[in-house]
Amino acid sequence: MDEFAFIRDHLAKLAGPGSESLSDDCAWLPTTDGWQVISTDTSVEGVHFPKGMRGASASERAVRVALSDIAAKGAELIGIFVNLTLPKNLDDKWAIALTQGLSDAKNEFGAHLLGGDTTRHNGPLVITVTALGMAKTKILRSGASIGDQIWVSGPVGDAALGLKYMQGDVPLPDPTGADLFLWEEAYLRPVPRFDLKTEIAKLATASVDVSDGLIADAGHIAEASSTRVQLKANEIPLSETSKRWVGNDPKRLIELLTAGDDYQVLICTKPTAAKWLYDSAFTYIGDVREGSGVELIDRVGEIIPVLQSGYTH
Ligand SMILES: [Mg+2]
Repeated sequence: MDEFAFIRDHLAKLAGPGSESLSDDCAWLPTTDGWQVISTDTSVEGVHFPKGMRGASASERAVRVALSDIAAKGAELIGIFVNLTLPKNLDDKWAIALTQGLSDAKNEFGAHLLGGDTTRHNGPLVITVTALGMAKTKILRSGASIGDQIWVSGPVGDAALGLKYMQGDVPLPDPTGADLFLWEEAYLRPVPRFDLKTEIAKLATASVDVSDGLIADAGHIAEASSTRVQLKANEIPLSETSKRWVGNDPKRLIELLTAGDDYQVLICTKPTAAKWLYDSAFTYIGDVREGSGVELIDRVGEIIPVLQSGYTH
């Protein structure tokens, strides 16, 4: 059973008010003047980040990833809880390095600690971060309607190439130091898009962060909104260095569109919102149509087959 089937068939029966039936990135609890937005994410060594990547990089990345769900909803960050499960044999210097990563995330995004727990076990490093935010407007995955446009907040695919590189697979014939740095940074230090909260809060009918892969996450909007999402392959932004890696190989393009870890934001908007978005970080990449699922089309509207849409946990 995959993660999504387990949630749908078993955990969703336990859901209560505020949970959005576990179909959104966040829980939404009403307050006197808006919503408290809460999301939790677990990062496991060897599953969500490479074995041996410990210390500051591991904890900073875990916080950035958790904050992304709050940022994607156009919300303001309040703070975080962090639960650390440390390997029994983890040297104290690594445990102290983990706090450096938390401190870096705090300094950059105001992600100050509200609480948490620390335990040890005979297993890999596990970091669970629960992020709390406040929003004036409720923006779910399920708010898209037929005729809406789809926009993405920046290039996708760099993080996937960064992970490949960190795992020892140097993916260009002759990558420059700058290529490798950009890819590795995209993977290690994804940027939760709090800088776009005004546009998201004002214009988005639905939103999701790109964590499982652009196509998979567009699929989450399609499913929650009972619509079909059509993405235009040639409009999807890639960095110059990732474009060079893709070249003319459609398989490589699909590899980047189905790889996770980018943490850009995908929003749906009414077509009338376009005039506010053309000069923003967002790029128009597709449309919401009648039907179900996601389809990727080429320049002439032909469907490009995609076998697997993204990362399943
Ligand atoms: Mg998410």
